[in-house]
Amino acid sequence: MANTKEYTRNKEGSNISKIIVDRDLCITASSCIATSGEIWELDSENKAVVKDANAADDEILINSAKSCPTKAIFLFDKKGKQIWPE
Ligand code: SF4
Repeated sequence: MANTKEYTRNKEGSNISKIIVDRDLCITASSCIATSGEIWELDSENKAVVKDANAADDEILINSAKSCPTKAIFLFDKKGKQIWPE
């Protein structure tokens, strides 16, 4: 994962504390945005970026990561364990 962006999540009651996007894997499919437009948006390079890491609950965030066809979205729990992709 060379070209990555990391985001901290500190939503109350959430088990997910970190989101990483591999920008080289992101192909602008936009399914993450279709699943959770509260969290994701495209930047000027048409890569997915987090606009608000705390905007949706865990289930929606996980579903948005699962929707990514190239698995460009990585999720980590509070212990630092990667929970997606499994
Ligand atoms: S679904 Fe994946 S490939 Fe598509 S914009 Fe989101 S991160 Fe990028």
